[in-house]
Amino acid sequence: MNDIHVAEKPVQAGLALPGGMLIDGQIVVDATAFDVIDPATGEVFAQAPDADRDDLDRAVTAARCAFPHWAAHNFAARRGVIAQIASRLRTSAEPLGKLLTAEQGKPLRDAIGEVRRAADHIEALSTFDVAGGVLREDARERVEIRYRPLGVVGGITPWNVPVMLAMVKIAQALYTGNCIVLKPSPLTPLSTLAIGEAIADIVPPGTVNILSGGNDLGVWLTNHPGVDKISFTGSVATGRHVMASAAATFKRVTLELGGNDPAIVLPDADLDATADAIARSAFANCGQVCMAIKRVFVHRTLYPAMVEALASRAAAIRVGPGSDPRSEMGPIQNRMQFEKVVALLEGVRATPGARIVTGGIVRAGPGYFVEPTVVTGLDDEAPLVREEQFGPVLPVLVYDDIDDAIRRANATEFGLGASVWTHDSARGADIAERIEAGMVWVNRHGGNGRDVPFGGAKHSGYGREQGVAGMQSYMEMQAVTVPKD
Ligand code: NAD
Repeated sequence: MNDIHVAEKPVQAGLALPGGMLIDGQIVVDATAFDVIDPATGEVFAQAPDADRDDLDRAVTAARCAFPHWAAHNFAARRGVIAQIASRLRTSAEPLGKLLTAEQGKPLRDAIGEVRRAADHIEALSTFDVAGGVLREDARERVEIRYRPLGVVGGITPWNVPVMLAMVKIAQALYTGNCIVLKPSPLTPLSTLAIGEAIADIVPPGTVNILSGGNDLGVWLTNHPGVDKISFTGSVATGRHVMASAAATFKRVTLELGGNDPAIVLPDADLDATADAIARSAFANCGQVCMAIKRVFVHRTLYPAMVEALASRAAAIRVGPGSDPRSEMGPIQNRMQFEKVVALLEGVRATPGARIVTGGIVRAGPGYFVEPTVVTGLDDEAPLVREEQFGPVLPVLVYDDIDDAIRRANATEFGLGASVWTHDSARGADIAERIEAGMVWVNRHGGNGRDVPFGGAKHSGYGREQGVAGMQSYMEMQAVTVPKD
């Protein structure tokens, strides 16, 4: 059984709370504010400004004004600014990490790690050649494909990895010559606002604007006539609204949405290495990762051993407040998500034949803690298998025939990631080709380099972020044909 413990000190002690929103180079404090809750206690520990439509208008106007000058810089100059941002993130990693832990719940070392990784990633992203080139040149004409910045990007992020996602959107927009108005989740606004404050003296006024507010602010952003593109990361349900709303002004959209990633374990997979990697993927960030493994299909011959191996790894994870250095997994980030996971667990308990092999324990309070849980005996129609659980509860399913396993893995509206586990990489690659997902890995799950386009098939997304393809989605392709004189 896992050891759930409480922090000795309140987590808000020693936090460097942000002073306001970044609009047109200024830190702006609003008269109205909303509460931010510490998921380890369920209590309010800070407030964030609640932007209104005027704030948004000012931010979009500032971004539009800054755009021509920013777009006129070359890639090297823009890369230089991104390198300064990365360096500022590294020197501020500890205070930013503390803030991230307080509002998101993840262990402090993971939070500091997220800030540092974000710094590395934005530097890596700003090295790509996305300018285009000559498509064809012959005696008659020369055809060039060029990529031009779009103008103003609206970025909308969720609460699970707020720093990384905000920085990836900011870096992609800036490097490609755009300006950005970014809105973090109302559940985790503080670390993103603090980044705005930290980089205010680096980015030219108006190029980066960061506004906090409720879901309405997201709606206004997707409707705003001064915004040219929406880069959205969040749930499938909200993604639908975003796409519909963006249609009115033909905004470009990139949607990074939810997933229900399958892992298919073949009989020849390495038991220990596979169990290590699956448990890492399924339980990282308390299971709140879009491309976490959320369903495991194991061949019958390996099934009992794999269930036991996954259960022992889950049971070894120490759960507790992120501010406690002993914690390896924090709470679920918010009450709504917590209640969803608890309801899924209750559904498992009410299902004949289903078994909670380890975990399943929910702390009565305070905070939104659920122990890492491994479940067997469910069929594919069970809500825990069919839906995105976004929590540390992993169903393990048995199969006999690989064609059947692939069919079951594909029998979902989701299509973000998937993995195949086998000693035979070539066979793994063949199976990967038959899986309906935007990203498939053999013998690992996730951990893409920044050069790999990230995104989902089916309802898991629209378009790609990162890599050259992702960066170019922040630009308009222009074909220029010039006759030979
Ligand atoms: P969410 O859709 O509830 O909210 C995401 C963001 O959208 C928030 O900033 C929210 O304020 C805003 N928003 C809400 N309603 C809006 C509207 N009508 N118009 C515009 N913006 C609106 O998602 P969440 O619960 O914050 O995040 C969890 C989800 O995000 C999970 O499904 C997860 O899989 C997904 N996710 C996907 C990726 C990916 O890259 N594919 C990465 C991380 C998380």
